[in-house]
Amino acid sequence: MSVCLDEQVCKGCGLCVVSCTKQVLKISQKRNAKGASYVEQTDPEKCVNCGICQDICPDLAIWVCS
Ligand code: SF4
Ligand code: SF4
Repeated sequence: MSVCLDEQVCKGCGLCVVSCTKQVLKISQKRNAKGASYVEQTDPEKCVNCGICQDICPDLAIWVCS
């Protein structure tokens, strides 16, 4: 299971990272076109598709996709 991310929309606020109960999200070292360090999923196999990250993101940048 995994989530999808629009890395160009993500502003790297970290809300989803601290809200994920499975701790499978982290802020990347890479930056998007806006200069923001965007989020990435570290262990897709541990994701339970709970949707918490999707619900908490203020910019609709992350969503459950499988
Ligand atoms: S769907 Fe749930 S488990 Fe998966 S990355 Fe989002 S908050 Fe974490
Ligand atoms: S996906 Fe949304 S909540 Fe997560 S860091 Fe990016 S902007 Fe913040």
